[in-house]
Amino acid sequence: MASGRVDLDGNPIKPITICMIGAGGFIGSHLCEKLMADTPHKVLAVDVYNDKIKHLLEPSSLPWADRIQFHRLNIKSDSRLEGLIRMADLVIFLAFLAHFLHLDLDWKFWISLDLKSIFILVDFFIVNCCDGSVTTINLAAICTPADYNTRPLDTIYSNFIDALPVVKYCSENGKRLIHFSTCEVYGKTIGAFLPKDSPLRQDPNYYILKEDTSPCIFGPIEKQRWSYACAKQLIERLIYAEGAENGLEFTIVRPFNWIGPRMDFIPGIDGPSEGVPRVLACFSNNLLRREPLKLVDGGQSQRTFVYIKDAIDAVLLMIENPARANGHIFNVGNPNNEVTVRQLAEMMTQVYSKVTGESSIETPTIDVSSKEFYGEGYDDSDKRIPDMTIINRQLGWNPKTSLWDLLESTLTYQHRTYAEAIKKATSKPVAI
Ligand code: NAD
Ligand code: UDP
Repeated sequence: MASGRVDLDGNPIKPITICMIGAGGFIGSHLCEKLMADTPHKVLAVDVYNDKIKHLLEPSSLPWADRIQFHRLNIKSDSRLEGLIRMADLVIFLAFLAHFLHLDLDWKFWISLDLKSIFILVDFFIVNCCDGSVTTINLAAICTPADYNTRPLDTIYSNFIDALPVVKYCSENGKRLIHFSTCEVYGKTIGAFLPKDSPLRQDPNYYILKEDTSPCIFGPIEKQRWSYACAKQLIERLIYAEGAENGLEFTIVRPFNWIGPRMDFIPGIDGPSEGVPRVLACFSNNLLRREPLKLVDGGQSQRTFVYIKDAIDAVLLMIENPARANGHIFNVGNPNNEVTVRQLAEMMTQVYSKVTGESSIETPTIDVSSKEFYGEGYDDSDKRIPDMTIINRQLGWNPKTSLWDLLESTLTYQHRTYAEAIKKATSKPVAI
């Protein structure tokens, strides 16, 4: 871990405690990994699952073992959440006190104190050493498109209702909040409504997505795909209003298709056989099983993909530069990595052949209708290119990794992790 680290303004970075909700997911696992490997910060990792961060939690001899603690809880139904957001303060204080008294006690000892002692200590802490150096990061969400139109209620509850207490606790307790929203709040581009042959479709003003000027354009209510985007937009508005009216220190992140190892699951291997993950895992699954990749409605939608490790660098800049990040909404994506879904399928097929040495199958892709693939109520974002002005200006961040390179490292990981399991799962049982 580097010491003597400084922020973008040259000030030394002090260790903080982060209450990370949804830490066991794809983005959370990479963020925990980065925080443990490259920073002195502490993480209270909250999730219902921890499979993707097990390698960071065990064995207890890991160099960062005293800086990460997993709390298995469902924020939907667990009153311990507020305690945890507050506890982040306590953990800092206890470490401070132990250091001050030259005690070598681990935090399990301090946390085992009775309630009265804790209140006395917390009171002492609030009076003496409240430095506000606690950040809550909320990643928890249902965020796979196959759920938006088939489980719209769960989607809306997860992305809006369940996030409400997190926002409230942060606002009431004066904690900084970094909340994960989505690029999907932009919905469709203005250009999507122009005639197909209109030259204005080539004008960036009609498709580049800007945090402070672009409208949010969703389809009709019966297109339940937009339940996710709409819930995310409303929680963004609520956070923004808490900032304006009650002084909540917030940063909102809008990820543009972050992809890499540990994203989602491979159906039938580490997730349900009938489950439909996001496109990277769908196509990986098809490649691993030597099946054609399914192009929804012709694969004409366009996306920009950013490597998870590049994107995590942006989040770390937000964490460590609060004065530059607070009050902002940030697009985090790679405008240089734009492809249609069809082009993505073709590139993944080529990269997978290179990585495995296997030739591709005779019919590498097939077309399926969205109704067949996702069911009633599906709709799609046509094109997603992030404007980078705000993140460049505030944090000086730019993505580095090309689509080919990120697919090469990701598909190498997918092959190493899943090829054997797929082979076993698909091999016929031997007759006895
Ligand atoms: P993920 O599904 O891998 O991670 C979400 C994590 O939240 C999961 O581990 C899940 O168990 C946890 N969680 C959900 N509900 C919970 C609850 N009630 N209590 C406790 N834990 C709960 O998804 P991800 O890709 O890591 O995305 C993280 C965030 O980023 C989400 O808010 C998502 O909407 C947003 N986002 C991600 C992308 C992307 O490209 N990956 C794009 C747009 C938005
Ligand atoms: N898609 C596809 N085949 C699949 C999975 C997804 O054609 O097997 C398409 C999907 O319709 C969308 C794009 O790929 O146009 C990206 O889908 P993803 O689930 O990754 O999420 P989104 O970017 O839409 O939020």
